[in-house]
Order: sequence, then C-alpha cells, then structure tokens
Amino acid sequence: MDSRKKFVIDSNIFYGGIPFQTSSDYVYYITPDIQEEIHHIKRRIDGLNLLITTGKVIIQEPDIDIHTMVRQKCVDLGQMELSKADRSVIALSLQLHLPILSADYALANAAKFFSINILTPGKKNFVTKKTIKYCSICKTFFDLKSSFCNKCGNSLVIRKEKIR
Ligand SMILES: [Zn+2]
Repeated sequence: MDSRKKFVIDSNIFYGGIPFQTSSDYVYYITPDIQEEIHHIKRRIDGLNLLITTGKVIIQEPDIDIHTMVRQKCVDLGQMELSKADRSVIALSLQLHLPILSADYALANAAKFFSINILTPGKKNFVTKKTIKYCSICKTFFDLKSSFCNKCGNSLVIRKEKIR
C-alpha cells in the first residue's frame, strides 16, 4: 500500500522551500501552470528538476472539463481574484481527491466552496507533534502511562516527536 502523504501545492509552497525539506514520505502534485510560476524562482530550478526526477514532485494537467467547471464556478461565486494557476490547483485537487497545501489566502477561501481540504504549512494540522515516553538507554518508545522501561528499569523521559 502506498502510505505516502500527497498534496496538490501551489508555487508559494516552493518559495518557503517545503518540498526540499520534507522526507520522501511526502509527494507533491503541481500543474504545468504552477511549474511555470516556479520557473521564475531562478535559484530553485535545479532543485525542482531533481524533485521531479526522484518522483517527489509530479506534474499533472487537470482534465479540461474539470478545469472548465472550476472556472465557471469561480465566476458564479465572484471569486475573480484567482489566477489561472490557482484554478488549476483546485481542479487537480478535485480530480485526484487530494488536499491542497497552500499559504495563499484567496486560494484557501475559494477551496472551501469546492469542499476541498486545504492545509497551511506550519499549522498544527500539517506539522503535528506527538508526546511519548522514551528510554534513553534502550532507545525504545513507550506509551504515556509507562514510568519505567520494562527492559532495563530506567526512568523514562518525555519526548515530543515531530510527525513528518
Ligand atoms: Zn530501557
């Protein structure tokens, strides 16, 4: 089973450098319009090509009928501030049934009209921390109820583990 976490992202996520920092458990989908925007960040181009080669970033054009539906709905809703690239992100999210990761307020606002789950980097629903107990001798994790290691008797310490 493919347990990797997948998101559709826009170019502001690249400005923040997130695709370059997260582990291989994360896969990012972008549209050709977003790729075009990212190419304006000159210093990131080499890095982007590497991410595409390794399959961490996947470029996919949403189907034309989904893109057309999104554009029409944006007109109906008066969401005129969205760019063609923003709309392509929404369309790909709908097509692939994946959440959007974006720091863009206008995009986040529009996404809710499409019932899309949108995540903002740095917020608790993206980077979460789990509290656990840990034996520093055995390098073993225990649940929070435990006080002592069941192998060596060492007192356990509390650790906050970042889930990435
Ligand atoms: Zn121990």
